[in-house]
Amino acid sequence: MAFRIGHGFDIHALVPGRPLVLGGVEIPSERGLAGHSDADAALHALTDALLGAIGAGDIGRHYPDSDRRHEGRSSADFVRETMESVRARGYRVANADITILAEEPRLAPYLDRMRANVAALLGVSADAANVKATRGEGLGAIGRSEGIAAQAVVLLEPAS
Ligand code: MG
Repeated sequence: MAFRIGHGFDIHALVPGRPLVLGGVEIPSERGLAGHSDADAALHALTDALLGAIGAGDIGRHYPDSDRRHEGRSSADFVRETMESVRARGYRVANADITILAEEPRLAPYLDRMRANVAALLGVSADAANVKATRGEGLGAIGRSEGIAAQAVVLLEPAS
């Protein structure tokens, strides 16, 4: 059995009247991400990366936003359930790396908590679950603070 790699990308619009949840951390903000679940773009990208690594399609197939059962759900559930599929296939996470693209708010104070959440969800030590943030430098939808995006890469290794 060989290593498997997966990549995920997600983007959500910033809108008033929604909580801002990223990496499982609720961040004080006047606007939050629009979406069907809690719209945690970082955990959605991570879920897609895990699904990609096991060749199981994408988050839209497993958690369609047409399904009312997923309304308001914590995206941590999506990661947890996808990890069950990863383990069922005989793999574990070697490491994961998430990049959040956001002009505002400033995410640096929350990255360690996000990392701890992601490490717990993936069953790895904190140094194998990196979460970082970068800004849009005023360019494009991210730079104009119209939304927040996230990318994730995961490497899976045989569990035994
Ligand atoms: Mg999403």
